Amino acid sequence: MLRIDGVHKWLGHLHVLRGVDIQVRTGEIVCILGPSGSGKSTLLRCINHLDPVDGGVIEVNGERIGHELHGGQLYEQSERRVAKARQHIGMVFQHFNLFGHMTALDNVTYGPARILGRPRKDAVAHARQLLAKVGLAEKEGSYPSQLSGGQQQRVAIARALAMEPRLMMFDEPTSALDPELVGEVLQTMKQVAEEGMTMIVVTHEVGFAREVADRVVFMDQGRVLEDGPAREVLDNPQHERTAAFLRRVH
Ligand code: ATP
Ligand code: MG
Repeated sequence: MLRIDGVHKWLGHLHVLRGVDIQVRTGEIVCILGPSGSGKSTLLRCINHLDPVDGGVIEVNGERIGHELHGGQLYEQSERRVAKARQHIGMVFQHFNLFGHMTALDNVTYGPARILGRPRKDAVAHARQLLAKVGLAEKEGSYPSQLSGGQQQRVAIARALAMEPRLMMFDEPTSALDPELVGEVLQTMKQVAEEGMTMIVVTHEVGFAREVADRVVFMDQGRVLEDGPAREVLDNPQHERTAAFLRRVH
């Protein structure tokens, strides 16, 4: 469902992605680990059309991201096509990015009602189901400022799911949380994984990767250093840099 093939990305003078190849099958859970600055967030931004790639190909469900072909020429995709492709990808960031002036329920209802054009009644009913699923049924009237960090992240997950994405991407969703709030967010992510969602999770939570991921990808300096079954990579890394990283985060 996702094919990343020889992707390069420059940010200013920095060669941030240096030929990244990753494939993700439908229903697969892939955790991406790697030191700070290795290009993990940049890769997610490229997958989500927030950043164009400078070389290589990204395809989601057979659709090329970033460019479209016209008479043999590649052109940047139109805003409309980009927006449409992005609808199929749900994204949860490290820093809670809920709409601060909206209740939890309105945060989850907004996308389906305003962007997908769903009837408001249906959008609200679905949002209530999703808030119940993430364990926040009783908080639907709360504003983000009235919620804990863990609760805000769970609303963010419900909001992303409300758009009925084919792929969910998480960029260190628990690293800004107080330690005692990490578990509830990982539990919610695990539940989403068990329902068959295709997921890419950038995380330093090795326990989560071990328990939930099908595959672990280790990135270092803009390249994929290891890519394999979660336990194999975590328990028996082939590269000293992976082993050193795992010793540090354990
Ligand atoms: P972290 O674990 O700290 O989140 P990361 O693996 O997500 O790190 P990226 O955020 O993708 O790393 O950054 C990769 C490199 O690109 C870093 O060296 C970073 O400083 C650099 N970088 C990121 N954004 C920009 C930007 N807008 N302009 C220039 N350089 C950038
Ligand atoms: Mg990052």
